[in-house]
Amino acid sequence: MARDWATVFDLDTDAADLLEHFEREWFEGRQYRHLPDARHGVERGTAIVGDAVVRGYPSMPRALVLATAVPERFDGPVAVEEKLNGYNVRVARIDGDLLAFTRSGYVCPYTTAKVESLLDPAGFFDAHPGKMLCGELVGPENPYTEHDYAEVAEAGFYVFDVRDRETGDPVPVERRRDLCADYDLATVRQFGTYTPAAAVGVAREAIRDLDATGREGVVLKSVDGRRALKYTTSAIHRADLEHAFALPFDYGRDFLFTRVLREAFQAVEFGDSTAEVHERARRLGEAILVPAVETVRAVEAGEPVGDDHTVRGDPAVIESLLSHFRDQGLEVHVERDERVDGERVVAFTKVARATRDKTEYYLEGGTVDE
Ligand code: ATP
Ligand code: MG
Repeated sequence: MARDWATVFDLDTDAADLLEHFEREWFEGRQYRHLPDARHGVERGTAIVGDAVVRGYPSMPRALVLATAVPERFDGPVAVEEKLNGYNVRVARIDGDLLAFTRSGYVCPYTTAKVESLLDPAGFFDAHPGKMLCGELVGPENPYTEHDYAEVAEAGFYVFDVRDRETGDPVPVERRRDLCADYDLATVRQFGTYTPAAAVGVAREAIRDLDATGREGVVLKSVDGRRALKYTTSAIHRADLEHAFALPFDYGRDFLFTRVLREAFQAVEFGDSTAEVHERARRLGEAILVPAVETVRAVEAGEPVGDDHTVRGDPAVIESLLSHFRDQGLEVHVERDERVDGERVVAFTKVARATRDKTEYYLEGGTVDE
């Protein structure tokens, strides 16, 4: 009993024009579809499981200058919250099963199992079956990101949005906070709600504190949850560059220009002195060159280079995660594979082939035309 997808997605074109872009995947013997890129006004990461729709999490703009971007984007009260650095997860309950979707709409077996062990959302979904929990999965042990938070030992899940699964409509910020409190779900830190003009100062202060502890940044939201704006710390710009330049031929170029500009505008808005600008420049330079040098040395020594991750869980879940990566054509280099208290713990590198191959080529005398 196929649904009228043109109506479901409010399309002004044939449903077939949208549906052809969905890719088919399997999760535990069940087929589903997901949309890897935004199409016809439908968000990237939207999934269709049977007849159920799980809308993608919308992308949000970034401010380079808080003082002007905040009043430009908001005309009413603004909630200021912490932006956590992990990966975006949507949790929904479909036909009685809890499913965790990554940003691209893939039902991740590892994340689904992790979410099941980290939270107890049964009460929430009994009362709100048509909603989804949108949150950041953070912590050192996961297959996608690595960023340490002092308060997170292995993995943590923090809700930053509750949305209607089918329409993607958010519940207002305050209602979301109440729902999280009622159902005992961890939520991102709140810095309060202010007029746009006052929110600028609060966001800047928050950024100074977050920067000092190496945390990522803030998200400002209209109280109805419909508009958002992100802004990040110098610490995360450097961390991004360190990561990118550890794998220069895979990520370097894409990261560099944007991070340099974020730093330039931040230095001006935060009124850096000449000495502070120089300090910022020194740290930025180190974030680029030091990891690149380390990588050339690692390749020279024949060590694998790539993104390092550690995962821990049910052996069958870990196996399906690793085979999913291999199916995607990723080269996975396992450094450690052991059983701890009945769980399988695997430390692995997603090999960065471009960086490895090009670095080898230059080390062996390859030349560049530039
Ligand atoms: P995009 O630009 O498409 O939003 P991106 O992958 O570049 O995505 P980020 O720069 O990390 O993402 O910023 C948006 C993401 O920040 C969200 O998708 C979400 O995963 C994450 N996030 C962390 N904390 C919050 C928060 N408090 N509110 C909303 N999103 C948050
Ligand atoms: Mg992020």
